Amino acid sequence: MPAIKQLPSHVADLIAAGEVVERPASVVKELLENAIDAGASAIVAEIAHGGMTYLRITDNGCGIAPEELPTAFLRHATSKLRTADDLSAIGTLGFRGEALAAISAVSRVDVLSCVPGADSGASLHLEGGVAGEVRPAGCPGGTTIVVRDLFYNTPARMKFMKKDAAEGAAVSGIVTHLALSHPNVSFRLLRDGAEVLHTPGDGTLQSAIYAALGRDFARGLLIVHGVSGPVAVDGFVSQPLQCHGTRGKQVFFVNGRLVKSQLLTAALEEAYRNRMMKGKFPGCVLHVTLPPDQVDVNVHPAKTVVKFAADKPVFDAVYYTVLDALDAQDRPAPPAAAAQETPRDFFRTMTAQEYRAAAQETPRAKTAPNPAAGGVQLRMRDVAAPRKPFTAEIIRGDQSVTYQITPPAAPDKAPRPQPEQQTMEPEAIKPWRIVGEVLKTYIICEDEKKTVWLIDKHAAHERIRFDALRAAAAPPMAQSLLTPLAVDLAEAEYTAVLEHLPLLESFAFSCEDFGGGTVLVRRIPADIRPEDAPSALEELAEKLALGGADPEGARDALLHTMACKSAIKAGMDTSPAELAALVAQVQSGAVAYCPHGRPVKYALSQYDIEKMFKRA
Ligand code: ADP
Ligand code: MG
Repeated sequence: MPAIKQLPSHVADLIAAGEVVERPASVVKELLENAIDAGASAIVAEIAHGGMTYLRITDNGCGIAPEELPTAFLRHATSKLRTADDLSAIGTLGFRGEALAAISAVSRVDVLSCVPGADSGASLHLEGGVAGEVRPAGCPGGTTIVVRDLFYNTPARMKFMKKDAAEGAAVSGIVTHLALSHPNVSFRLLRDGAEVLHTPGDGTLQSAIYAALGRDFARGLLIVHGVSGPVAVDGFVSQPLQCHGTRGKQVFFVNGRLVKSQLLTAALEEAYRNRMMKGKFPGCVLHVTLPPDQVDVNVHPAKTVVKFAADKPVFDAVYYTVLDALDAQDRPAPPAAAAQETPRDFFRTMTAQEYRAAAQETPRAKTAPNPAAGGVQLRMRDVAAPRKPFTAEIIRGDQSVTYQITPPAAPDKAPRPQPEQQTMEPEAIKPWRIVGEVLKTYIICEDEKKTVWLIDKHAAHERIRFDALRAAAAPPMAQSLLTPLAVDLAEAEYTAVLEHLPLLESFAFSCEDFGGGTVLVRRIPADIRPEDAPSALEELAEKLALGGADPEGARDALLHTMACKSAIKAGMDTSPAELAALVAQVQSGAVAYCPHGRPVKYALSQYDIEKMFKRA
């Protein structure tokens, strides 16, 4: 082993610089953060060749006094941290005092700065970290830093640089994120002379999002705001139908600092569970604010990783805040005083014919089935005594459903006298009318705001079934099959079913092994049509075989299948009463997306329709 020696300081500086300055984007990040820390309200960044040959950051912040210019470029020189205690209450973006030293070690730097109100400013040139003379210079209040020929003296690092376009894109990403975390600062980015971003700095996150992420993204956002204990969550999330193919549009800030955090991503996405299509991801710009001593931002040199003192309160704050916003969006707006008036006006504009059509849609009792025409028979068994539990079996064709009936206990007092002649409650007037059903799938409705709704009856019913199944404490009602069904399954599915017999039982599927890849099914959920049972079991088996490491996810997957199989199908005949019941649920706001995230309803405003016909 050679003798141990201390590294020459310029070598140590280069190594340290490598940690802070990886590429032009990291230079831009450090310089923009310095400008923000300096209280600038407007910052301009200009780059050429992806920032490799030239980048310049100009701010209108507090400036650096001429005598402090060389100090600012020394390692561990900072005006932001004085004592070790300050570390637990960092309020600025920089604090290590490393950035300027690192940047100047691997490039040629010119700095020009003037403290606002001072007679004159000063300039300084540095080359490979070696500072020249401080010279007086006239300039407006603020600081301009020009960085040329990045990595000119570290060719090994230079080799790792990507094409200009890729480096330029990384710079854009940094400016975008800083613009989003500082809506009160105006950011401008010029790439090879062309302006690619310009935020107004008007203090609203919305305008920053609009300017930085584009109109399309900004349009489909929901506002979120929530406080839970010491954690505040503010910002915007995408509507479930406007989700994206990647997580690229998820932007999180913790105490103003851009972070990447699996915890925050998980909390966000958990809120969208069952509202979003598979393979889609929500977008967001979310600011999480909590006391500085509850978060450690000092765990990574690039400072995009954070550690929370406690994960759960942060997860919960994000999850519930986003969930609240999504739920609120699904609920219709509460009726305003003016809106109270509208339903009446709406119905006043109906013709007698329309009114009759609407009246016909009020639910009516179903006619009793005719047993002779393959109808239903009721058989009671184990009837021991009045008011004791007994078994009722409903038989149709070769299927039967068995219910355990427990009659209510005898009332202590005489029952309340019923009025002689029972009166019917008048049907509450609903602020919509059902126009009809088309393609045996879509219900068309018109509401008092002249919005035309298309409702997918299968998707709506599937959601209603899913929510009901999920909320139910008891397993779903089962029907015994008079002849058991033999279902042939592929190897993996067969094994999965045999491994999960009790779980399937809790979903009212009673199965047993029949050997050779065949499963015998004796009971199925009461609301699944027996002809659908084999495919339902196959689907359940497939989901079990794919294996959810997460039991909650596996349960939801099974519930999806159950809900789908038991729901009204597209193309099937549905009675007007059933359609009316579905519409009532959908219009109450209880359902907005099917469990796979497809929309249940689609609104066409009068304007949309008029536009279609070129009237508007
Ligand atoms: P840090 O930001 O961690 O303090 P830097 O090396 O980035 O370390 O900056 C060193 C010091 O130089 C800062 O603490 C600040 O006092 C000063 N400084 C850097 N950039 C600016 C600027 N744009 N405007 C005013 N002061 C600045
Ligand atoms: Mg800094």
